[in-house]
Amino acid sequence: MELTGLHLLLTYRCNFECDHCFLWGSPWQSGTMTLAQIDEILRQAQEHNSIKSIYFEGGEPFLYYPILLKGIRLAKKLGFETGIVSNGYWATTQEDALEWLRPFAEILDSISVSSDLYHYNEELSQQAQNAQQAAQELGISLGFISIAQPEDNSAESGVGQLPEGMSGIKYQGRAATKLAERVKGQPWRSYTECPYENLREPGRVHIDPFGYMHICQGISIGNLFETSINEICATYNADTQPITGALLKGGPAELAIQNQLSPQQNYADACHLCDWARQELRPQFSQILAPDQIYGDF
Ligand code: SF4
Repeated sequence: MELTGLHLLLTYRCNFECDHCFLWGSPWQSGTMTLAQIDEILRQAQEHNSIKSIYFEGGEPFLYYPILLKGIRLAKKLGFETGIVSNGYWATTQEDALEWLRPFAEILDSISVSSDLYHYNEELSQQAQNAQQAAQELGISLGFISIAQPEDNSAESGVGQLPEGMSGIKYQGRAATKLAERVKGQPWRSYTECPYENLREPGRVHIDPFGYMHICQGISIGNLFETSINEICATYNADTQPITGALLKGGPAELAIQNQLSPQQNYADACHLCDWARQELRPQFSQILAPDQIYGDF
């Protein structure tokens, strides 16, 4: 397996607790990377020649501003393309947004800012607009992440007919708990493939503050504080790993069947069934289905 990008979950903590969050981001979460850990991750990333980009996300990475800034600086110095994903809470005015972003000029290639009705009262928030203005002035590329409401992609409104510029909900984590009941869903046996992740050759993976390398959030394929990225990639076999193997064979439905689980009738999407099955299987596969933070256990 050859990786091209690492997405560092700098922290599980967030100043918001959005209903659609598939990571259970919250002010009450725990787990934040230290500078020494970021150093180690970047060192290993350099050893894995194919990695070109390093993104910082969370949680909300701007909550740990000096660490975020130093992390981006280090990554840029080592020649990586750099990015951040943020909810933009800090962009309270244009003037302030400029000051928050100014230290990132020249070292940050792109920033993605969330703006939708989960984060703010309007789809394009004032914060997002302020951040956009500031980024433009500093020559940083900025994009928005906007997630639709459950009803926007339901059977009634036409599945796949999302409003322009919006992405659908992934019913995992808090989204599964809070939003799945708002859509009718499909019979569980119909979810016979993973719709989002390339489980054999993912390209990019997420690394969390505990060192877990996630192929999808909550499915760990190794811990890079124990085994190097190179070694994890050399030994990973998606078809024989118990969780990814089942998902590749027949999606979340196969994961349930292989493990003799008894799902309910309908699920909002494949991730909803996958999330439920993995919760059930955590005691059996505690090293893979980790950490507690991603399963709302905090
Ligand atoms: S089906 Fe499972 S592995 Fe695939 S994207 Fe959804 S939650 Fe992740």
